[in-house]
Amino acid sequence: MKKIGLIGGMSWESTVTYYQIINEAIRDQLGGLVSADLLMHSLNFSEVVALQKADRWDDAAKLLGSAGAGLAKAGADCVLICTNTMHLVADAVEKMSGVTLINIVDETAKALKKDGKKRPLLLATRYTMEHGFYTDRMQNQGLDVVTPDDADRGVVHDVIFGELCQGEVKDSSRKRYLEIIEKARSKGIDSVILGCTEIPLLIKQDMLDLPSYDSTQIHAEAAVRFALA
Ligand code: GLU
Repeated sequence: MKKIGLIGGMSWESTVTYYQIINEAIRDQLGGLVSADLLMHSLNFSEVVALQKADRWDDAAKLLGSAGAGLAKAGADCVLICTNTMHLVADAVEKMSGVTLINIVDETAKALKKDGKKRPLLLATRYTMEHGFYTDRMQNQGLDVVTPDDADRGVVHDVIFGELCQGEVKDSSRKRYLEIIEKARSKGIDSVILGCTEIPLLIKQDMLDLPSYDSTQIHAEAAVRFALA
C-alpha cells in the first residue's frame, strides 16, 4: 500500500472526514484490521485564512508547499490539499512537494463527466467560485460551471467561514443553501458540486432532487485508489 500525505486543517472539521472516509474505504476493500498508511500535516487554519484575506497567495503556496515537502520527506507517495480553495496554489505545492498531487478539481470533474453531467452549479468559497483556477479548469474539461449571483455567493462563503469551519451547522443556513440551489434550476443546471470540503456537513444528497458531487468524498476516494493501485 502506498503512503498518503494529507495537508489538512483547512478546516480540521473536514479533515476529520477525510481521515474517516479513507480508512473506511480501505477497510471495505481489504477487510479486517487493515487501515490506511497515512501522514498528515494539519495546519493552523487561522494563518491560512489571514494569507487568503491579504491576497498573499505566494506565501500561502510556500506554507502549503513546505508542508507537502515535509510529508514527502517523511515518506508520503502522494499529497492531497484537503480543501478546494487552496487548490488555487496546487501547481506550486505539487512542485515543492516533489510527489504526485491528487487534484480535487480534476477528480470532481472526472466524477461529473463519468455520469454525463454538463452544467453543474458550484457551491464553494468566493475564492473558488470567483478565481479562475476552479471554473476555468473545469471548463477546459468540457464542463459549463454555473455559480450563484454575487449576493448568494456572499451567503455561501460566509456560512463556510463563519459557521461550518467553526463546527456550527445551522438549519437556517441549510435553508438558505437549498433556496440558492432551487434558484439555480432556472439556469438549466443538471447537478450540484459541493465544492467546499465542509459543505457536506450541511447538505446531504437526500435533501436534494438533483445529483450532488461531494468534493471531500470524491477526493478521499481518489487517494484510496492511488494508495491501493
Ligand atoms: N475547506 C474549504 C474548501 O474546500 C474552505 C476552507 C479554505 O479556505 O481552505 O474550499
